[in-house]
Amino acid sequence: MKAAVVNKEHIVDIVDKNIRELKYGEALLKMEYCGVCHTDLHVKNGHYGDKTGVTLGHEGIGVVTQVGEGVSSLKVGDRASVAWFFEGCGHCEYCITGRETFCREVKNAGYTVDGGMAEECIVVADYAVKVPEGLDPAAASSITCAGVTTYKAIKVSNVQAGQWVAIYGMGGLGNLALQYAKNVFNAKVIAIDVNDAQLDFAKELGADVVINPSTQDTQQLIMQHTKNGAHAAVVTAVAKAAFNSAVDCVRAGARVVAVGLPPEAMSLNIPRLVLDGIEVVGSLVGTRKDLQEAFQFALEGKVVPTVKKRSLKEINSIFSEMEQGKIKGRMVIDFNA
Ligand SMILES: [Zn+2]
Ligand SMILES: [Zn+2]
Repeated sequence: MKAAVVNKEHIVDIVDKNIRELKYGEALLKMEYCGVCHTDLHVKNGHYGDKTGVTLGHEGIGVVTQVGEGVSSLKVGDRASVAWFFEGCGHCEYCITGRETFCREVKNAGYTVDGGMAEECIVVADYAVKVPEGLDPAAASSITCAGVTTYKAIKVSNVQAGQWVAIYGMGGLGNLALQYAKNVFNAKVIAIDVNDAQLDFAKELGADVVINPSTQDTQQLIMQHTKNGAHAAVVTAVAKAAFNSAVDCVRAGARVVAVGLPPEAMSLNIPRLVLDGIEVVGSLVGTRKDLQEAFQFALEGKVVPTVKKRSLKEINSIFSEMEQGKIKGRMVIDFNA
């Protein structure tokens, strides 16, 4: 079967790989779709260590063709996901308290283990979340990473119905965060991005206020609309300036949730944190339960990812488009193509 594998020169080769025998508790998926994420680009470029030989992909959706011994959670014909949170140890303090994505022995698809950017993929059945019947598998692939990540971030922000949430960055993550915030959590959304085209799209998706920080005063506008600042902020932008702005634009007692991964440190005004009780927290993808919920809201039509189907042989051009910032929506490898 064909697989997208990282080589030493940080280029992806399409290679023929043999699938090994299934072990206890595993299932084999025939892949239908696999989204291409910014994280794949980092893995490919060796930013998280040398990953030569690993099959990429953690936004995979496939159909079960075979189950190993001891599998009861999946059966042949089920549609299931290959997510970044591929497997936890199942017994550590994080795994048993609903914070499994922070397991210290976590396995990540397309990083520690072979991922879903291949014609076939082996999953640990109990960790592969089933895709509900009726949900388009190409859309489901985007929910598997971008969707669940933003759904979880809005959850972590503690924003309540009718309250204001400021979302920084309206790219692939931000526009899904906006849809979850509006259509699932009933929050009012301030969409912030330096790109006017992204802001137009945010307006179409129902953003209550849009702000372009390159031409407008973000803090002043947010204060004007919310009186005392937003009740929460979620930062998907990959820029330190956005993180600093978020801390300035929320009200006392608010949470700022970090999702984007700029390489630098952010500046934190300590009196601001102490006197106004501001919390800054990170949020990492989502648990299996979060993914189930994120799939369900997509099935109900509350969240619609923008996907574009591409073929496996285009993978290196997709990565160069990504590096040049040319990508709108999610590029999804179509294994039926
Ligand atoms: Zn991802
Ligand atoms: Zn664990």
